[in-house]
Amino acid sequence: MQISQKRLKEISDIANAWAVSNGVSFKADREGPGNNEVLPTPYTLFPALVPAPIFEQARSSMTEFSRLVHKVANDHNFLTQCLEKVVEVDPFMNGLWNIYLKVREAGIKQSLMLGVFRNDFMMAVKENRKPGGIMKAEDLELKHIEINVISASFGGLVQQLTKLHKLTLNLCGKKFNSEEMPGNKPANGIAKGLLKAWQLYNNPQSVIVFLVAAKENNSIDQRWIEFEIYKQNPGVRVLRRTFADFRERGSLSCGSHLLIDDQEVAVVYMRDGETAENYTSEKEWNGRLIIELSAAIKSPCVQYQLVGSKKVQQELARPGVLEKFVPSKESVEILKATFADQFSVDLGPEGDKAVEMALASPEKFVLKPQREGGGHNLFDTEMATFLSHHISSKERNAYILMQRIYPWQQQNYLVKSASPFNLSEVVSELGIYGIYLGSCTADEFENYECGHLMKTKTSGTNNSGVVAGLAGLDTAFIY
Ligand code: ADP
Ligand code: MG
Ligand code: MG
Repeated sequence: MQISQKRLKEISDIANAWAVSNGVSFKADREGPGNNEVLPTPYTLFPALVPAPIFEQARSSMTEFSRLVHKVANDHNFLTQCLEKVVEVDPFMNGLWNIYLKVREAGIKQSLMLGVFRNDFMMAVKENRKPGGIMKAEDLELKHIEINVISASFGGLVQQLTKLHKLTLNLCGKKFNSEEMPGNKPANGIAKGLLKAWQLYNNPQSVIVFLVAAKENNSIDQRWIEFEIYKQNPGVRVLRRTFADFRERGSLSCGSHLLIDDQEVAVVYMRDGETAENYTSEKEWNGRLIIELSAAIKSPCVQYQLVGSKKVQQELARPGVLEKFVPSKESVEILKATFADQFSVDLGPEGDKAVEMALASPEKFVLKPQREGGGHNLFDTEMATFLSHHISSKERNAYILMQRIYPWQQQNYLVKSASPFNLSEVVSELGIYGIYLGSCTADEFENYECGHLMKTKTSGTNNSGVVAGLAGLDTAFIY
């Protein structure tokens, strides 16, 4: 379909206006008085193409991934074995680990664990594929990049972006049906999960707390989930509080009931605390500790967050490990089918071999620290330099090595304020949202998939991250 550049620019102006009017947007600066300017979130003008079998593979594997996180989180020996060397050299992971040990020592006060997850994949092009022609599902391999278990963002913004993409396609005269552009409501699904946890907590007077950063620029995304809660149950109160608030005004009554500003907290939904920079002082760590020691249902509890570390994901990819947690052969195959190769780079003979391999062909690998939010991974010469400098250092134990995926390149307009409006070569990551509500005694109350996002960046950009300004939000056009 040929559309003039002039008309495309008009459509992009309409899309920008729609995005700001309908909450596909960031606060331009941080929350607070005088800081209310709203700008469109970086996004693509059109959805990304995803073959139906690939989309279905990602979507249908979600419940298996979620159940796996829950099982691993309840295996103390496995967590210890995975993380003991990491916590020696990584103060952030050590902080989480100490909280976990304190919670164990005090005795678990809340058996329910709530997961609001997003599982991210890339579509790798098979090596033997001939160039040209339409990309088919059999030309692609779905490869797992990581599962996000804390602060998995953008469910609210993409719920809106799906509607915006239907508008931009319509404006171009592109016809589509509901299988190609299905409804996509992650915020609705997340709200349902939070409300289910609130209901099981079983105190109608209790509140849900969104644990947010003191300086937050993605609050609109979070508000969409809050609004969905009010839509589903207007009687439930949602408060926005920080770790520091809990440190200063939080308390535990009757031993374990979590109180903030005299309200009993049923559920703490964390949209902060996922990475080292979120803990700038002891205040944040102490706030986290009070929450973790309480009977509130945490999303996530510290055990879930430990499982979400890159290190645990690397250990799970070792041959024979999945089988310990997943009884059904069929489920093991579903999970394994998407795993990329991953290697320990711990100081020692096994790690030395992996480091040697990475130094011989840096373009085939990514070096990942135990961090979240994009922008932390090392590629190419940066990776090689780091590894050469740490050849006999324990600091290596804080990283893992992963096979590098070269995803399918498509073309799209990446719309970012202050960036030129150009058709670019882009690559996308497909994320699937999932809710898990289970108990440490193995009961499963909820386990469902609830929508998707695509994150798209110009090809050639190594790292990703929408808030970090490296990528834009996107949705899938399924064909
Ligand atoms: P984070 O938790 O910080 O998002 P990720 O593992 O998702 O960490 O890595 C951040 C980004 O780095 C990804 O969004 C992707 O763009 C890129 N990336 C990560 N792993 C790989 C890989 N194996 N191959 C290619 N790119 C990768
Ligand atoms: Mg992540
Ligand atoms: Mg990621």
